[in-house]
Amino acid sequence: MAQSATPKWTELAVGTAIIEPGSARQNRTGDWRSQRPIWDHDKCIRCGVCVIFCPEGCIHFGQEKDTYPSADLEYCKGCAICAQECPTTCIQMMEEEE
Ligand code: SF4
Ligand code: SF4
Repeated sequence: MAQSATPKWTELAVGTAIIEPGSARQNRTGDWRSQRPIWDHDKCIRCGVCVIFCPEGCIHFGQEKDTYPSADLEYCKGCAICAQECPTTCIQMMEEEE
């Protein structure tokens, strides 16, 4: 039987299990997002707490010295955990536009 490019729900693995290593990167969780994190760099102390708590592992510091963290929006799902855990409350969640 020929498989279509987008599988029907009856063709998905039970529990939508990850069935091969490294396949999580193919699941672009940014598509789920209704809010995005916005940083106030004046309040950021670059402690890295947001990096540790992000469940998607999508917050990174830049390669340059003295850079601030930012989220890879391909994978940020807008859960707001980073904003909840930031000790200086410098991350605010902003509604995505339609
Ligand atoms: S947790 Fe807050 S203060 Fe710490 S690096 Fe992240 S944004 Fe900056
Ligand atoms: S909103 Fe959630 S997924 Fe997005 S950067 Fe913050 S902790 Fe990570």
